[in-house]
Amino acid sequence: MYDLIVKNGTLIDPYQNIEGRRDIVVSEGKVVSVDEEINSAAKRVVDASGRIVTPGLIDLHTHVYWGGTPLGVDPDSTCLMRGVTTVLDAGSAGCNNFLGFRKFIIERCKTRIIPLLHISSVGLIKPPELEDIRNLDYDGAVEVAEANKNLIKGFKIRFASPPNNHIGKNGPQAMRLIREAAEDTGGIIMVHPKSMSPGFPLEEILNLLRKSDIVTHCFAPTHPLYLPHAEILDEDGKVLPSVKRATQRGINFDVGHGSGNFSFDTAMKALADDFLPTTISTDINTAALKTAKDMPTTMSKFLALGLPLSKVVELITANPAKVLGFEGVLGTLKPGAEADITVLELETGEYTFYDVKGESFRGKDLLKPHTVIKGGEIVT
Ligand SMILES: [Zn+2]
Repeated sequence: MYDLIVKNGTLIDPYQNIEGRRDIVVSEGKVVSVDEEINSAAKRVVDASGRIVTPGLIDLHTHVYWGGTPLGVDPDSTCLMRGVTTVLDAGSAGCNNFLGFRKFIIERCKTRIIPLLHISSVGLIKPPELEDIRNLDYDGAVEVAEANKNLIKGFKIRFASPPNNHIGKNGPQAMRLIREAAEDTGGIIMVHPKSMSPGFPLEEILNLLRKSDIVTHCFAPTHPLYLPHAEILDEDGKVLPSVKRATQRGINFDVGHGSGNFSFDTAMKALADDFLPTTISTDINTAALKTAKDMPTTMSKFLALGLPLSKVVELITANPAKVLGFEGVLGTLKPGAEADITVLELETGEYTFYDVKGESFRGKDLLKPHTVIKGGEIVT
C-alpha cells in the first residue's frame, strides 16, 4: 500500500524528457514510480484529470524573511500555496540577522527555503544596505556561511546608484570581497545589477563572475532614473556580446520579475536574439505582490511571449535545481526524487498581462495552482 498516487494528469518533467499522461506513485516522501497507468493501492489518490502536473516549482529569487525585513512575505501562503515548493531567498538576511531567519522562518515553514546570505551584515533590514561600507563584515559573513554550510548556498549583492543607492561608491570594493567570500566558502554569488556605480559597468562585474554564479533581473526595463543602465541589450536591442560570453562560461541569468525588474519589451528583444534566461523567478516581496503576483502568473507571461509550456516548466524545475546543486533530487519526479509535486490548472481565453512599467501584453493561457504536494504530503 503506497502513500499517494497522482493519477490521470499530463506530466511535464523536462529533466526526464516526459510530456504526456502519467501516474505518479509516492511513498515516504519520495517518488516511487512514474508510468502511463498505475493501478496500485494507495492511501490517498489525487485525480489530476485535465490538469498539468509538474515537479514542485522552484523560485530562484524570493524574499521570505517575513517580519524580519520590510520586503519579506510569508513563504507558505505566498509561495507554497501558489505551487512553489522550494525558494531561494535572495539575501534578505546578512550575518547579523541570519539566525533569526533560520530559527523562526526557515525551520518553521513548510516551504523549502534555501538562503543566500547578503554580503551586508544587516541584509535588507533597511536599504541602502552598503552605501556605508562599514556594513560589510567580511569575517562575520564567512563565519556564518561556514557555520551554516549545509543551508546557505552563497552570497547576494545589489548594485544601484541614486536614487536607489544600495551601494554608493562601494561597488568595486564590495564586489572584490564577495568574490573572496564565495571562494573561501565554496558558495555562489547572485548579483542584482540595476544601475552601476560610476566607472564600474556591468561588463566588469560579469568578468568577476564564475560558472554557476547568477545575474538576476535580466529582463529589467530601461529607465532614465537608473542610468547608467545595467541592461543586457545594446542600443539596437541586441544582447550584448559580454552577456553572450558570460552565458557560454556557465553564468546563469535569472528573470527576478519583482516590482521593478520585468519588461515585456526587454524580454521580447532578448528572446528574439536567441537569449533564453536560465531560470524564471518572481522576486516575490511585499512590493511585488501586485506586479509579479505569483509563479503561475509569471509563467503565464512567458507563455504569452511565445515560450512553449515545457520550456517554461524547465526554467522553473530542472534548471533552478541544477543551479542550486539539487539536480535529480528536486525539480524532477524521477524515482527516488523528493515527492514535491505541483498540479496546475491551464485555462484558455483572452488575458491581459502587465509588466512593471504597466505595459500590457495579450495572452491565451492562464496557469493557476490547483494542488500542491510537498515531500509526499498534500498541503493544498
Ligand atoms: Zn530581490
